Amino acid sequence: MPLLSPESAGAAATTPRPRLPLGPLDTVHVFWLAGMSCDGCTIAVSGATNPGLEGLLTGTVPAMPKVLLHHPVLAVEAGADFMAAHHKAWKGELDAPYVVCMEGSVADERIAARTGGYWSAMGAEPRPGHETEQPIPTAEWLSRLAPGAAAVIAVGTCATWGGIPAAEGNPTGAMGTADFLGKDFRSAFGLPVINIPGCAPVGDNITETIFAVLLFLQGLGPLPAFDELGRPAWLFGSTVHRGCTRAGHYEEGVFARDYGDPECLVEIGCWGPVVNCNIVSRGAINHMGGCMRAGGVCIGCTMPGFPDKFSPFLKTAPGSMVSSAISMTTGAMIRRLRRLSNREVNYEKRWDKVGEVASGWADVTPRSVPDRVLHFFYEQWFRMRSRHPGRRAGEEAWLWGVDRPGRRSDYLDDSVVRKDPS
Ligand code: SF4
Repeated sequence: MPLLSPESAGAAATTPRPRLPLGPLDTVHVFWLAGMSCDGCTIAVSGATNPGLEGLLTGTVPAMPKVLLHHPVLAVEAGADFMAAHHKAWKGELDAPYVVCMEGSVADERIAARTGGYWSAMGAEPRPGHETEQPIPTAEWLSRLAPGAAAVIAVGTCATWGGIPAAEGNPTGAMGTADFLGKDFRSAFGLPVINIPGCAPVGDNITETIFAVLLFLQGLGPLPAFDELGRPAWLFGSTVHRGCTRAGHYEEGVFARDYGDPECLVEIGCWGPVVNCNIVSRGAINHMGGCMRAGGVCIGCTMPGFPDKFSPFLKTAPGSMVSSAISMTTGAMIRRLRRLSNREVNYEKRWDKVGEVASGWADVTPRSVPDRVLHFFYEQWFRMRSRHPGRRAGEEAWLWGVDRPGRRSDYLDDSVVRKDPS
């Protein structure tokens, strides 16, 4: 059995091949390779909705070629029947271009081979010195298929950066796809490895990136923008904190003390402010869920430094202590001022004039005189040099204006809302 080292595999993978032409495709094969993985990325992609996996597989997504997916979990074939297409692709006998999606990290099979074993494998074949067929390591399949692939897409943090199987102390020598193939690797269409991190990634991030790459391969769109680490830039260009539903609490300096509290989770271990991810703004599945929406702190699972640089999990990071102390100080004042404005905009103009709030749910306390005075000046400041509601052009400069519509006494005419019983 040939033993793969990252260097030799990288060298094999970068052997120049003729670049494939762009053009309309009827069909594209997708080989989903499973390395050191928990299959969570498979679960995630099967929950994608925009576009959904079923749309890609049935060829009903406009402008998309039909996707023939060769997936070890989802396929109906098994054994040699399932592996036949892999062998054809390796030998260049496939009837259409193909894309490789790698799920799970790539193990260093040299380590397992020392004791005659393997870490992860797909299919089997005869090997010299063995009477029976021997498992083919997934790492070897990656090495075989990557050079001829239109694109190689690493799906999930294990496949992108090594993830949990590559954590400090792991015995497998696990690594990410780009670490295995080498920085000079280019697919048959000239693309480096595309990385969609996440543990598991948002399903829509996976299908949307595949969709965007296929659109490019179809010659119908530009190559999507990727950042310097090969992540889709439009999905990972911002921190998860910026789209977090709790970010307003952070800004106002209000922090959760216990799990289950509705405020910002930074003081109980959230790394969101420094983590490139879109799970809260996009939602986990069908625009719903997402870590902090569901009450979980961000532990940085999309990041190359995960998991070691975020461990121990759920412990407050020193950096967030500094920034949250600053937010608490400024937030205390901002919160009070906003509370005043919030009370003001919860009050109809009409209620000011009538002197009571038309709510049967509670006795709403009328605005106090200091409140009204404060907001009178606030409003003048806000409307300075702008047209005031109910005034004509040219009346902007008036301080008091006139009552419109109608006269002040109209508001006090209860015949509008109360019927005379007689
Ligand atoms: Fe930012 Fe985390 Fe707080 Fe959300 S919970 S606002 S991501 S620190």
